Amino acid sequence: MRLLTQSRPSLVFSCLKSSTAVGAPLQGKPSVDYQIRKFPASERSLNTVNLLRNIVDALKIDKDATKSFIPLSIGDPTTFGNFPISEGAKRSLIEAIEGGNCHGYGPSIGFPFARKAVADFHSSRHVHLTENDVLLTPSCSSALDLAIGAIAEEKSNILLPSPGFPLYETLTGLYNVNVKYYNLLPEKNWEVDLNQLESVIDSNTSAIVVCNPSNPCGSVFSPKHIRDIIQTAEDHNLPIIADEVYSHMVFNNVEFESFGDLSENVPVLVTGGLAKRWLAPGWRVGWIILHDRHDQLSSVREGLINLSQRILHPNTICQFAIPGILRDTPPEFFKSVMADIEENAKLAFSKLAACPSLKPVMPEGAMYMMTGVDVDTLWDQPDDVAFTQNLLKYQNVFCLPGSGFTYPNSFRIVLTVPRDVLSEACDRIVEFCNMNLKQ
Ligand SMILES: *Cc1c(COP(=O)(O)O)cnc(C)c1O
Repeated sequence: MRLLTQSRPSLVFSCLKSSTAVGAPLQGKPSVDYQIRKFPASERSLNTVNLLRNIVDALKIDKDATKSFIPLSIGDPTTFGNFPISEGAKRSLIEAIEGGNCHGYGPSIGFPFARKAVADFHSSRHVHLTENDVLLTPSCSSALDLAIGAIAEEKSNILLPSPGFPLYETLTGLYNVNVKYYNLLPEKNWEVDLNQLESVIDSNTSAIVVCNPSNPCGSVFSPKHIRDIIQTAEDHNLPIIADEVYSHMVFNNVEFESFGDLSENVPVLVTGGLAKRWLAPGWRVGWIILHDRHDQLSSVREGLINLSQRILHPNTICQFAIPGILRDTPPEFFKSVMADIEENAKLAFSKLAACPSLKPVMPEGAMYMMTGVDVDTLWDQPDDVAFTQNLLKYQNVFCLPGSGFTYPNSFRIVLTVPRDVLSEACDRIVEFCNMNLKQ
């Protein structure tokens, strides 16, 4: 077993503290007449919270742990080095740099040739996309930021999945957009509870956000279920923001369809990027693909372009590499990555399912698995946050509590961990439960 001795990456970020610049006078007396006053941060910035970050930052680190630290928390496939990028992608980046002029600014929504490559890559037998249907953004996170910002008026509400990716709520806060949740049903492989979804729609609703394949669930909607969700949106004349950053990341014999391809009427803003499928979140490349067959989004297009001028396009080196990355990452590359993740899912599922206090839900794609935890069967675990905290304390395994995804009594594990490490982590989780099992 490889021992993981590195510091905890997810906790490192919380150590950001103010520092004293080199050459500046040390703290103490101000020069002559300078009146020291504290500058308050804007209310807006102080009110920006990520549910998960709050929980993670409050976790205590045990420096004296005897067992190796295993983070099952980080949604970054590069953490352990077991999922390298494709050779074709690497070559495309090198060629972009060697090719010359890729260090300057470009159009705020990205270069047309890079947008065209993304459009071609996502065109299907149902849908022909052009560069005018694509905006490149500095990440999928910023694609979501633009999409929500352009479509949701202040004080309107937007519908988010529960459990769901906490970033959505963080983004809505800054725009003064209210959030309503619709439920995903674990007993139905995390399908949407359509009746309950309808019940939360009102005249102030501006859009439905879906995430498929799902973070945190690892679930994949069937084409039929996607059509049912689209029908609900159509009945209420609402646009859909479909976060498909895990598009095509599905297990063997599972079908992926894009909301954009299946919608005949309601417009769909598909967000995606290179982060997950191409195993390179650090490249910071995202996009919005507009599926707008009846030209309902002309005003929103203008809004998106205006918003893109705030932060501008993704980095130019990657934009130059995009055509090559999309062309030269072979299907076998994706297949082998997903086969590996599926094996991990099966292993983790079988280990955790054997524990009476745990109820994992077998995923069908992406790179996560949600597991229900019945805290009432365990001593001293009042809720999922305490459970994950104690798991870290006593077993040095870190999972994210479901509360961070608005879904208490559960936790999420990441499946891109090397198999032996994942196996060890699951054994420790089960051992922890067994040691705390009542009677
Ligand atoms: C990782 C992730 C993103 C963000 O992708 P970036 O391109 O790294 O910003 C967006 N949505 C979901 C559901 C994710 O898991």
